[in-house]
Amino acid sequence: MRPIQDAFPLLQTPKKIFITTHHKPDGDAIGSMLGLALYLKKKGHHVTPVSPNELPNFLMWMPGVELLLNYEAEPKKAQQTLKESDLVFCVDFNDFSRTKFIEQALKDATQPKILIDHHLKPAPTWDYGMSIPEKSSTCEMVYDFINLCNDNALIDVPIAECLYTGVMTDTGSFRFPITTASVHEMTADLKHKGLDHSRIHELVYDSWPASRMRFVGYMLLEKMEVLPDYNSAYMALSRKEMIQYDVHSGDTEGLVNLPLSIGDIQFATLIMERGDEVKFSFRSKGSFDVSTFARTHFNGGGHFNASGGSLKMPLNEAIDYFKKILSDIHPL
Ligand code: 5GP
Ligand code: MN
Repeated sequence: MRPIQDAFPLLQTPKKIFITTHHKPDGDAIGSMLGLALYLKKKGHHVTPVSPNELPNFLMWMPGVELLLNYEAEPKKAQQTLKESDLVFCVDFNDFSRTKFIEQALKDATQPKILIDHHLKPAPTWDYGMSIPEKSSTCEMVYDFINLCNDNALIDVPIAECLYTGVMTDTGSFRFPITTASVHEMTADLKHKGLDHSRIHELVYDSWPASRMRFVGYMLLEKMEVLPDYNSAYMALSRKEMIQYDVHSGDTEGLVNLPLSIGDIQFATLIMERGDEVKFSFRSKGSFDVSTFARTHFNGGGHFNASGGSLKMPLNEAIDYFKKILSDIHPL
């Protein structure tokens, strides 16, 4: 992969640009995709941001959502847009399989592809890009990219809101160790440009329906299993419970982090039935590398302290498998 600066000549004249991100997009995925889209539009390009599937409700307010195409809902239109594009940007993922529905179309696409991402172990698929696991978020990298293009002055409040959202969500509101001085410097710059950060926190974190609060209460009271021998806790959620508690896309966001607030717990897992597979989310505090854990045992990957994976088996078997792995490797 060549450095992203080598792609600058491609951006000198107006281009049709297809931007995409990972399946089940989170704040950093949508924030980086829309922040980049709004910036490239200001530069005179024709830009279509494409999400593999629907957005969670807590991101529906984001600036630029009106530009979004949902690939799952409109595959033909999205495929046509990809075919007609001159350039492809991929943000917040580094392996086509993470886009699920778009994987094949991206494999088939012959346009130059540019990566902006902070996950470990990028696939060797991109022509140009930035892949920096030490970065807090892809939004921080989009900010760096805009600065590399000497366009800091083009960052307006809507772009700042997009970028702040991803940095805020990926750093756990600026508390994870990955929150460097550069992150705070970026935030200071966004504040100088007029960002109302409290508004973003409220829109993302304080906009729950009462049913979601009750659902989280149920999970903590009835479903959280604490495994003191491994300094671990896990929660498993069945499809039946999702229906019973009216759980929507995004309602489980942040749930996996909650057991880490227990003093002795250093490793937390959320296990969910999803489609024909079981999805795992892993979080740790301290020195347990959940990225390697997810890659080795759960067909997954991610970051040192936040990762995920999936297994194709029934939920109860997946839980037994998970517990067997814990007893085999004794992680903590
Ligand atoms: P989450 O638990 O929020 O779904 O994901 C946490 C982190 O792990 C994210 O950075 C995400 O990209 C990564 N991740 C989640 N699921 C998978 C997966 O199935 N495969 C890979 N490679 N990474 C995953
Ligand atoms: Mn991210």
